[in-house]
Amino acid sequence: MEKAANLVVSSPNLKYTEDYIHSEYKYEEALVTKNEDEVLVTPFSVSLSIRTERKVPKVGVMLVGWGGNNGSTFTAAVLANRQQLSWNTKNGQMDSNWYGSITQASTVRLGIDEKGQEVYIPMSQMLPMVHPDDLVIDGWDISPLNLAESMARAKVLDFDLQQKLRKEMSAMKPRPAIYDPDFIAANQADRATNLIKGSKFEQYQQVRADIRDFRDKNKLDKVFVLWTANTERYCDVTAGVHDTSDNIEKALRNNEPEISPSTIFALAAIDEGCCYINGSPQNTLVPGVVDRAERRGVAVAGDDFKSGQTKIKSVLVDFLVAAGLKPTSIVSYNHLGNNDGKNLSAPQQFRSKEISKSNVVDDMVASNSILYKPGEKPDHVVVIKYVPYVGDSKRAMDEYTSEILLHGTNTIAMHNTCEDSLLATPLILDLVLLAELMQRVSFAPSGSEDSLLATPLILDLVLLAESMQRVSFAPSGSQDYTAMHPVYSILSYLLKAPLVPAGAPVVNALGSQRRAVEGVLRACLSLPPVTCMQLEHKAP
Ligand code: NAD
Repeated sequence: MEKAANLVVSSPNLKYTEDYIHSEYKYEEALVTKNEDEVLVTPFSVSLSIRTERKVPKVGVMLVGWGGNNGSTFTAAVLANRQQLSWNTKNGQMDSNWYGSITQASTVRLGIDEKGQEVYIPMSQMLPMVHPDDLVIDGWDISPLNLAESMARAKVLDFDLQQKLRKEMSAMKPRPAIYDPDFIAANQADRATNLIKGSKFEQYQQVRADIRDFRDKNKLDKVFVLWTANTERYCDVTAGVHDTSDNIEKALRNNEPEISPSTIFALAAIDEGCCYINGSPQNTLVPGVVDRAERRGVAVAGDDFKSGQTKIKSVLVDFLVAAGLKPTSIVSYNHLGNNDGKNLSAPQQFRSKEISKSNVVDDMVASNSILYKPGEKPDHVVVIKYVPYVGDSKRAMDEYTSEILLHGTNTIAMHNTCEDSLLATPLILDLVLLAELMQRVSFAPSGSEDSLLATPLILDLVLLAESMQRVSFAPSGSQDYTAMHPVYSILSYLLKAPLVPAGAPVVNALGSQRRAVEGVLRACLSLPPVTCMQLEHKAP
């Protein structure tokens, strides 16, 4: 892919220095207070300085579950794009691309041209971002197969493309990983032969040593650790074990059985200063892990890639509820035949997935008090079945029934052939690239006082800087920049059950999640949010 030129913004509120892009930004919100007969809305604004480091670091990605369908497909996609590979299929010659990645294959509206027409640019061009070609990849797997063998086992990519990648990928071998048969399905036992031995604490130390080895050998500035291994069962969160950073460390040292492999990987990553991203539904990021991440200022994000069915659900329910229609029943069937499906055929692992798939409409439903009474929700059922023959071509069938005018009903049925790993792989890329960018953004409060209400609540709201991590924020004029809150809710667009900072609302609606990403990128450039009003064509 061609490396694009950077965008230049000409504004008195934006300054480019050698090291930073400095933005003076006015964040505008409205404070709402309600009593019995009045809803009072008070607009306010807060000035922030936002600065973004311009130097793009050398980045490594370590995948937990590297030899899986997603891990091998991600590796193949990076190599195929880097080498601009073409390959033959029955439909002719195909070229590499990054379709499905918002950073690489989506555009954002920048503004209008002299004729009032909209102008879009690739998202990757807005701010200095890591290029996928420059990523260094490594990882762990309980299965010993090299990446060429894993790619063949996955049956995701065209045969001719596999042939072209085989030599390079056969030299890539996953590091031994942490296996605890209590956490993943029993049907995974036969592939679990590439293992780190020892106590949980020794396993944690080995993972830390692996990260350091990878970082040092490749002279990396930053390493990201991302879980794309099998879905674990939920761990049983217990006070005194999982609740604080100190307790979880104690539990790790005591070999506590309810510390899952994924939590050990997360602790090791955080303690090596590496952002940890959870691409599966289980509750890896228990309060003690989040506490540790917050204390160390290391970013975490999760849970569960939002790739196919849930992505559509978070669009469709948003549309229905915003249209004043009342979804009353949402039933989702899936069948899939890949190893993920095999693992999910066990009840406890399915339960993790069921939970992450179930809450995705809650915020949209709660937003409309005309349609739903407090606490009222649509019936929402999720079924997943393992059907080996369909392989990675997951089928998702959904039925949405809504109440419409005067108690009529409207039913929408949908069939989605997902091609699971081809949808998930670009999300892995975006998660890493956007998380990396957010680490370079910081915020400071601005000296100018244009807030109408300088109450602690508003300051708290503003420190909703929690939603914006690769930017550092400071009050405008101040030199005191702070990083984004380490729980990267900005990545919610890519995740099914977004983890957010304590007290922050969970947003599932895809459009809002996308506007949050674009809004933060624009704020870093001192550009106002896109309003879609087009007043230049409407106002007299
Ligand atoms: P997969 O089964 O093909 O790959 C998982 C890999 O993890 C396997 O190679 C397995 O050997 C390895 N593994 C298991 N336990 C491990 C451990 N403790 N340490 C290291 N490696 C371990 O599955 P996949 O299709 O690549 O999906 C990976 C994960 O992503 C699953 O949990 C899945 O639920 C989640 N996910 C996938 C999608 C999607 O593909 N569209 C969407 C959302 C979430």
